[in-house]
Amino acid sequence: MKIICVGRNYADHAKELKNDLPTTPVIFMKPKGALLLPGKQLYYPDFTQDLHYECELVLKICKNGKHIQEKFARKYYDQVTLGIDFTARDIQRAQQQKGLPWEIAKAFDGSAVAGTFAPIPEGMDVHDLHFQLLQNGNSVQDGHTRDMIFSIDHIIAYVSRFFTLNIGDMIFTGTPAGVGPVQRDDKLEGILEGKKVMEVEVR
Ligand code: MG
Repeated sequence: MKIICVGRNYADHAKELKNDLPTTPVIFMKPKGALLLPGKQLYYPDFTQDLHYECELVLKICKNGKHIQEKFARKYYDQVTLGIDFTARDIQRAQQQKGLPWEIAKAFDGSAVAGTFAPIPEGMDVHDLHFQLLQNGNSVQDGHTRDMIFSIDHIIAYVSRFFTLNIGDMIFTGTPAGVGPVQRDDKLEGILEGKKVMEVEVR
């Protein structure tokens, strides 16, 4: 199982981090060990002073494939939830300034939170979903999947040119604006189409 993530996929988020809009999807990965299972708490890592949440729609791959055409992409995912791409922002900035890879800022143990997956019901369009992140009960991110720069189906097609997609892989599809720091004892909740699907506490 691998975790594939898309960076800078919402224009308003790219802007808040002062990044240029990408012309092709920005892809990175997290190892299996980065996954924090539902019900587990995230322990604030000792290597960062600026741990940020990034709430994202997460898809689960249900069919193996490579070189998937965009028009057939929908056959390759069947479940959806919300997740958090936890990011050590201070380390990420330092790595970016030096032109170095991001893994120590984004792929550490527990950095990938996935909520409870649910089958995508007949008639639901994943390109038309509303989601929200609550931090201690206050709404801090409010996104809509139609605002993605690269659509889910485009991402599947693009990623599968480089990496074979396997059953069980997860794709984190990018975060909208509103990212920010977490503190110990924060509670984060993800609301997808009005329904709570994810919850995590920081210790
Ligand atoms: Mg992200």
